[in-house]
Amino acid sequence: MTKATRAVILVCNDDGIHAPGIAALATALEAEGEVWVVAPDRERSAVGHALTLHRPLTADQLGPRRFAVNGTPSDCVNLALLGLLPVRPQIVVAGVNAGSNLGDDVTYSGTVSAALEGALLGVPGLAVSLIQPTGPASYRPAARVAARLTRLLLRDQDREATLLNVNVPPGQPRGVRLTRLGRRLYSEKVVERQDPRGRRYFWIGVGPPAWEAGEDTDYAAVHSGYVSVTPLMLDLTDYPGLRGLKDWEAEYRRQSRGRGRGPRR
Ligand code: MN
Repeated sequence: MTKATRAVILVCNDDGIHAPGIAALATALEAEGEVWVVAPDRERSAVGHALTLHRPLTADQLGPRRFAVNGTPSDCVNLALLGLLPVRPQIVVAGVNAGSNLGDDVTYSGTVSAALEGALLGVPGLAVSLIQPTGPASYRPAARVAARLTRLLLRDQDREATLLNVNVPPGQPRGVRLTRLGRRLYSEKVVERQDPRGRRYFWIGVGPPAWEAGEDTDYAAVHSGYVSVTPLMLDLTDYPGLRGLKDWEAEYRRQSRGRGRGPRR
């Protein structure tokens, strides 16, 4: 690829701009295009798709094409695409997250939401997460996976899939599997304690995670040593549910008529 046609790549995360995962990712992506890093100035994991609408955002330039934003991952991508970057990037790459983003977790994930925000604004992207990182160097294989998938996504811009959730197992992956999202089995519990002033307080999300172990799930892939790639889509409509509720429109009309004539409850 010549310099004039180099892709512009926006890199974001939810662990904060100083996290080791984003450093490894930005380094690995240098070979694929011009990398811009716009990321939260601190840890913002599990903020989901939150946007900051009630206070101003600042973007501190920490180096060439490198900005720390006092906001959420989605803020960063929104700001980058709609104002901060001088050009529109061809792709948004989020990560490498410290820890998995499997199954239902994608709805909480700031990493996935960063890529989702890009997709909402018409830019394809991928979210990359590393299972059980053990130190800064452990992110390098995952960053290389991200670079390879970035190259594929940039090359295949006319394909349907524009938003990929990628989870990388620890160590050297055995290969890549295309997967669907697994389901978390809710064994999670709330831990209740008492503070020194006698008030109750709670910790949520502390139970051991249990998963539906379907062969074609993201969970199964990473736990047999494969990179899991799950295409996601923005349309949350439950189509079987929509068909299942078809008679509700008529049912609702019938109920309203019934209420009009009958005695009030
Ligand atoms: Mn995170």
